Amino acid sequence: MATLPIRVFGDPVLRQPTLAVTEIDDALRQLAEDMLVTMYAAPGVGLAAPQIGVQRRFFVYDVGDGPGAVVNPRIVETSGEWTYLEGCLSVPDLHWEIIRPARVHLVGIGLDGEEIDVEADELLGRCFQHEVDHLDGMLLLERLGHKDRKDAMRILRGRALEDGR
Ligand code: ZN
Repeated sequence: MATLPIRVFGDPVLRQPTLAVTEIDDALRQLAEDMLVTMYAAPGVGLAAPQIGVQRRFFVYDVGDGPGAVVNPRIVETSGEWTYLEGCLSVPDLHWEIIRPARVHLVGIGLDGEEIDVEADELLGRCFQHEVDHLDGMLLLERLGHKDRKDAMRILRGRALEDGR
């Protein structure tokens, strides 16, 4: 098991939609293991494949009820509204109050090929939405209101200059 470098804002892989996983094999299961180790070490509650530079449609998570992984996830229904302070391992040390649906219905496939069909709310529902956004090439910055987003971009551009990028 190994921790993997987490890609951060500015890396183009975070802006690219992922491709569907076509085969669930030992290589994928090993990668999911490494992603969980990486996520726990960060620490975070979710990690999507693009965040470690893999442009494939799957993510791992653990919001406190044990680890899970979802391959080719889709959110098929949402309802309600919930404001929650949200962060992202690819946009380190920044958090914003973000409004999203309170409940989601997620479908996908597990690492043993089993069908996943789950309704989630609270932190798990939020985590699923955040990770599926990653798989669609979207960061939480795109969920911010106009002013928060402007402030965020100012901070992030400043960081990029400090890093000499
Ligand atoms: Zn994230």
